[in-house]
Amino acid sequence: MNILITGGAGFIGSHLAEFLLKKGHTVTAFDNLSTGSRENIKHLAPHNRFIFKKGSVLFKNDIEPLIARSHHIYHLAAAVGVKYIVGHPLQTLITNVDGTKNVLELAAKKKIPVLITSSSEVYGKNDNLPFGENADRTYGSAYSERWGYALSKALDECLALAYWREKNLPVVIVRLFNTVGPRQSSHYGMVIPTFIKQTLAGEPITVFGSGSQTRCFSHVNDIVMAMADLMNNKQAYGEIVNLGSTETISIRDLAEKIKHITKSKSKIITVPYDKAYSPTFEDMQKRLPDLAKAKKLIGYKSTYSLDQIIQSMLR
Ligand code: UDP
Repeated sequence: MNILITGGAGFIGSHLAEFLLKKGHTVTAFDNLSTGSRENIKHLAPHNRFIFKKGSVLFKNDIEPLIARSHHIYHLAAAVGVKYIVGHPLQTLITNVDGTKNVLELAAKKKIPVLITSSSEVYGKNDNLPFGENADRTYGSAYSERWGYALSKALDECLALAYWREKNLPVVIVRLFNTVGPRQSSHYGMVIPTFIKQTLAGEPITVFGSGSQTRCFSHVNDIVMAMADLMNNKQAYGEIVNLGSTETISIRDLAEKIKHITKSKSKIITVPYDKAYSPTFEDMQKRLPDLAKAKKLIGYKSTYSLDQIIQSMLR
């Protein structure tokens, strides 16, 4: 099959490209190299079934010919990283909303199945755990940039479902919960690569807020396999599916764990949210996916423990 991955030079996109190449597909990675990089795909470049095209999902002319010759589209191109999002609210909204609209509109012309990557951010401040796919989405003030990002992802989901219902475009929507793994950059503020970088450099480990907030981290290998399984399962069309892990850890414990594993002498320090991000920033205190739907559809389960994930990133 010819498969198009928008955001194919990003962290998750490049792992997905590698996985699909191993399955025998021809993969086109499309990326504007804003947060993605050639470094992420340099090991794939010599492959004769791998194509890289630089361009933006905001320009239909860039992407239309690639979409027209694809059998499946994985749409990963988006603004990523809480730090980036807080610093670039306008670009976040434009990229996430207009980019997704362009991909869906062009895919709909030939009814090419599209997988849309959404985020656990859409649950917002809902604290009724675990989050099932039909749970309420609860957002804070319009003055907090974070909710603009959550809303942009929620709107992507609505757009995709509308294309499914009104235009019969096959879509699958995945909500990713803190996907991590090798090649994830600390540059956009994600916590595990940041803590690893800090411990290895002997710098203070920066725990934002009280550190009692919890997350569940999943390995990118589990996630890309699940994305491909969902795309290949017609039962998943028109569905929103959580993907992640249920191994929960507080951010303070995560800092302790990474410090311990790396035998680092770094100090753990607490940084208030207003210093870390912005005065209006609000964090999600808890996040835990209900994975029953993914299990039912594709037999999904997370196969990496947090320790294994950290070890794979250190390597
Ligand atoms: N975090 C932290 N120190 C950092 C980076 C992040 O304490 O240097 C916290 C952040 O405030 C959040 C959690 O780690 O509570 C996960 O952050 P990340 O940006 O990786 O993902 P999020 O779950 O917020 O999308």
